[in-house]
Amino acid sequence: MSFTIKNIIPVIAAKWYGNDDTCPIDNVSIDSRSLQNGSGTLFFALVGHNHDGHYYIESLIAKGVSNFVVHHIPENLNGKANFLVVKDTLESLQQFAAYYRKLFNIPVIGITGSNGKTIVKEWLNFLLSPEYNIIRSPKSYNSQVGVPLSVIGINEKHNLGIFEAGISTTNEMEKLEPIIKPTIGILTNIGTAHDEGFSDRRQKISEKLRLFQHTEVLIYQKNDTIDSLLDAKLKTFSWSFDDPKADVVIQKQGNSLNITYQEHHFSVTVPFQDAASVENTIHCLMTLLYLGYAESVIQERIPNLYPMEMRLQVKNGIHNCTIIDDSYSSDYQSLKIALDFLEQHKTHQKKTVILSDIFQSGFPVDELYSKVAHLLTRNKIERVIGIGETISRYLSDFKGFIPFKNTSDFLNQYNPAAFENETILVKGARNFHFEEIVTLLEEKTHETVLEINLNAISHNLNFYKSKLKPGTKVMVMVKAFGYGSGSFEIAKLLAHHKVDYLGVAFADEGIALRNAGIDMPIIVMNPENSAFSAMVAYNLEPEIYSPEVLKRFITLAQQKNLSNYPIHIKLDTGMHRLGFEAGNLNELIELLQHNNFVSVKSIFSHLSASDGPEFNDFTLHQIHTFDQWSQQIITALQIQPIRHILNTSGIYNFPEYQFDMVRLGIGLYGVGNDENEMKQLENVGTLKTVILQIKEVPTGDSVGYSRKFRATHQTRTATIPIGYADGIPRSWGNQKGYVMIKNQKAPIIGNICMDMLMVDITDINCKEGDSVILFGEQPRVTEIAKTIGTIPYEILTSISQRVKRIFYKE
Ligand SMILES: *Cc1c(COP(=O)(O)O)cnc(C)c1O
Repeated sequence: MSFTIKNIIPVIAAKWYGNDDTCPIDNVSIDSRSLQNGSGTLFFALVGHNHDGHYYIESLIAKGVSNFVVHHIPENLNGKANFLVVKDTLESLQQFAAYYRKLFNIPVIGITGSNGKTIVKEWLNFLLSPEYNIIRSPKSYNSQVGVPLSVIGINEKHNLGIFEAGISTTNEMEKLEPIIKPTIGILTNIGTAHDEGFSDRRQKISEKLRLFQHTEVLIYQKNDTIDSLLDAKLKTFSWSFDDPKADVVIQKQGNSLNITYQEHHFSVTVPFQDAASVENTIHCLMTLLYLGYAESVIQERIPNLYPMEMRLQVKNGIHNCTIIDDSYSSDYQSLKIALDFLEQHKTHQKKTVILSDIFQSGFPVDELYSKVAHLLTRNKIERVIGIGETISRYLSDFKGFIPFKNTSDFLNQYNPAAFENETILVKGARNFHFEEIVTLLEEKTHETVLEINLNAISHNLNFYKSKLKPGTKVMVMVKAFGYGSGSFEIAKLLAHHKVDYLGVAFADEGIALRNAGIDMPIIVMNPENSAFSAMVAYNLEPEIYSPEVLKRFITLAQQKNLSNYPIHIKLDTGMHRLGFEAGNLNELIELLQHNNFVSVKSIFSHLSASDGPEFNDFTLHQIHTFDQWSQQIITALQIQPIRHILNTSGIYNFPEYQFDMVRLGIGLYGVGNDENEMKQLENVGTLKTVILQIKEVPTGDSVGYSRKFRATHQTRTATIPIGYADGIPRSWGNQKGYVMIKNQKAPIIGNICMDMLMVDITDINCKEGDSVILFGEQPRVTEIAKTIGTIPYEILTSISQRVKRIFYKE
């Protein structure tokens, strides 16, 4: 890309304020954290419900960025950079991308649908790359922001684009269509995802179909509803399992697809059995047919499709290393994303990148590797282990470069002592089999993991933030190890989202966060006297709940010569757990009057039944009492503290009583208190393990302790290495509960043991080593809690620390 500010101004109808409109622009960015930002960057300051790119401009100028598309020029920054002022910065980004797209006259495959977009895109890339130089959306960049950023990656060398588009409500596709401008359309399928954003299924389909309004063809599975909504002029290329009117009729027989197309019959082996993967495979196959590929090529390539991990995973490594596993792709675009991710998630100063040869950049080889070297330098990577002949040749001058001819050479010479206290990004093309490297570097623990989806946490945070009045502050509760989800990683994400406060239960939880480098304000809800001193040393702010505690803390503050140390006053308005009561208020006021050792940062109370509509009167009474008492303190002391009373269900059910701040807990972790709220949250944690052993249990035999399960017919069972010591409630056994294997329910039979449990897999086609889901999308933790008569909080926080937590970002 090479533009000047002058070229761009008319494209986005901007007003220009600056001193140099000849500034060259060679990349765009929306992420202030990206180390790819530099003097050639045009930064779009996007504004969302809960984030505002304008906020970061000052620090970006300090980093050398000098061109910004803004809605307004932040105070004091006038004259310090080039500002292109527009009405709506997102719209400008989209306008620029659409303009950029028009500069390239190449075929583009545009993919939309409810599921399978990313996998179809990745597979097509794999299938078509022998013939084409392909640009595709990195990862699942398919949103209003992701699509423009993907398209802006096109360069002169590309001769095919593959982009996906995802929408969650009306009028969104209208904006994506001119940016992608697809020539070939693929509709993967229509499921229930995002139904809530549309009035009905037909509306959702029509919206999706807008992507195809100018395509030369649409590839889809024939379906009456879709047909009734299609523009009669649109040319289609359809397939079906049963409708003979489709262009291609397909019959599935075991591992084979028998295909009838234009009177020809041929069959193709599919490497998958599950319905979704078969459908995705067929969409790829249809594209090859449409592009005129010979049957023999199709028959040769389709069986080589492979399941793929689209996510960057963060794992614990040997010798206190952190591994970022991106061992399935190696194009230039995704290298940039992975390096940004590395920067954001590094737990150590030292950074190593293990990188294979890079394919499909669209650049000539020498230009590509000089760009790669530049990226690595800019990201301050100290050590690069290059695997492959090309990278070894072209990066040999890079400082800290260690070459290997191929993966086996690296594995043969592998020395674990060479990796210690560092963050390692492992990134390679699929045929380099870097998963073997990850296996070596990964800390060995059992295969039970709790996967934490960091995107879902951001989504949930934004959902609750969208319920807040402008200016309402947010405290997020990360007590009890972040409700079982891991406190440090989540705190780090929350710091990025500029949450105002973190809440922990005990001082040592706060100290652990400080030791991990979290510097946001942290309030300790249950401060014990013995921990006061340590709290002060670590700058943690105590909840003060009684005159005695206040006196003791003031004495300590006096001894330590502190002034205005922040404290938080807790009022007991009906919960009767901790807090000052009506009879203590005068004493509280007296103690605080003319006292400069401490300063009341906030006054708060806690609701005991904000989730129970039957207790609404009681809740309103609590809120009213809180308002009165806190006013009394404020008036007497002439102070302006932050007032707060709402927890998650309070935010949802009593939005008018936010006062100055809310305290978000369980909602962040994906649990709401009713169906409607749940629908808007994303699942955060997935507890997973694998099948250890499979057995055939004859009729009449029993399974497990106390012979609780008796086989009334020949039963196939699987033993799963997770038990009540890992936090699976024993009451979830004996056919009350189930696990998911291959997307099917396998009932838990017999008593759950300490470290294992057994399930019935008679009707499931699975094998030892296959993945097992204990909870996640299904069953949700809420379902388990309801069945066994407890609350999701208890289940989440009971998952044992011996279960490894893995954090990932889509
Ligand atoms: C745990 C806690 C919260 C958060 O409650 P959720 O129901 O999880 O939102 C809020 N305030 C206090 C004082 C808490 O202890």
